[in-house]
Amino acid sequence: MSDTEKLFDWIDSQRGGMIGLQKLLTGIPALAPESGGEGEDKKAAALKAWLEQQGLGPVENYPVKDERVPSGARPNLVVTVPGKESSGAFWVMSHLDVVPPGDLSGWATDPYTLTEKDGKLYGRGTEDNQQGLVSSVFAALALVKNGVTPPRDFRLLFAADEEVGSTYGIEAVLREHPGLFHTGDSFLVPDSGRPDGSMIEIAEKTILWLRFSVEGKQCHGSMPHLGSNAFVAGSALVLRLAETLPEKFSREDPIFEPPYSTFCPTRKEANVPNVNTIPGLDVFWMDCRILPSENVNDILEQIDSLGRAVEAQYKVKVKREVFQRKSSKPTSADCALVGRLKNAVNRVYGVEACVKGVGGGTVGAYLRNAGYDTVIWSTIEETCHMPNEYCVVKNMVNDAKVMLLLGG
Ligand SMILES: [Zn+2]
Repeated sequence: MSDTEKLFDWIDSQRGGMIGLQKLLTGIPALAPESGGEGEDKKAAALKAWLEQQGLGPVENYPVKDERVPSGARPNLVVTVPGKESSGAFWVMSHLDVVPPGDLSGWATDPYTLTEKDGKLYGRGTEDNQQGLVSSVFAALALVKNGVTPPRDFRLLFAADEEVGSTYGIEAVLREHPGLFHTGDSFLVPDSGRPDGSMIEIAEKTILWLRFSVEGKQCHGSMPHLGSNAFVAGSALVLRLAETLPEKFSREDPIFEPPYSTFCPTRKEANVPNVNTIPGLDVFWMDCRILPSENVNDILEQIDSLGRAVEAQYKVKVKREVFQRKSSKPTSADCALVGRLKNAVNRVYGVEACVKGVGGGTVGAYLRNAGYDTVIWSTIEETCHMPNEYCVVKNMVNDAKVMLLLGG
């Protein structure tokens, strides 16, 4: 019997153990201070004790200071199964925190008590992100319990603060503990996917959020010649932006849905409350999602030149502020990690997985920007953040096998 078959058999025999760990973790809500919680400390402590009891230790902590939680820091735990070589470690990064359950009347069961029914585990956090977390733990345990040394270090990172933006999670860990990672390390983030395991996310669009304020001159509605109507100028600007930008920056990349950059005027702030005043200020926002192949600075330059034309024509001042700008280097569709993952998914699930890009805002960006190949993949039903969130036990078991193949 090959090592792989032995490890797969062992994983199959651990169904009960995996459900047990899910039960333990579901019972300890780890909510961010923004959601009225105390962070991940209690859940992290329980996980650490469980792992060390199973012989998967030592569990290291890379805390990130956060005065808002009782301990003053958010935990980021790391476990390592040493490989034959320590360079080019394979990491699985999951997150400890959960989102609040929301309206309890939408739940058929208590969100913090694991309920098993028809091969599914119900409870807040069971799918997001405990499914991936538990799969990764059992993949590592399989190696340890069966005395198999992986070719490279097999490392698990249980991060804090993913749901609220990773400020106290991976973003800070990369900055404050750069020695933890090495050139050639690669990451699997099991936090998004499809029910058949066929989607591998490797890239994201740049998020660019802009706020425009168009300043004219307020005056009486009967005397428009004494002012300059900011609403009219703002409307002219918004139309020029919405028409010009998609036309000028029209590259396509089929891994994204939609395959082109999007430039959407969204929020509009209230102006005057009455009908007989010419508004002196017009404020609106745009949400732009830009393909990695486009140059964001060129786009901003184009936007500003449209602004200047409106200023000249309508006698107004246009102020453009960047509210958020986040880009991520894509992971190459041809890199070794993607190839290994496609093979592993094919072997375990019998499907051809395809690479995809998303509209932006995943933790993958931090890792990719730090230079590490990163794939976001799991086999999930996408019940994350919903009432009656659940994890399919079979997926949790089989994803552990994919992780083993990736790390092995
Ligand atoms: Zn998640």
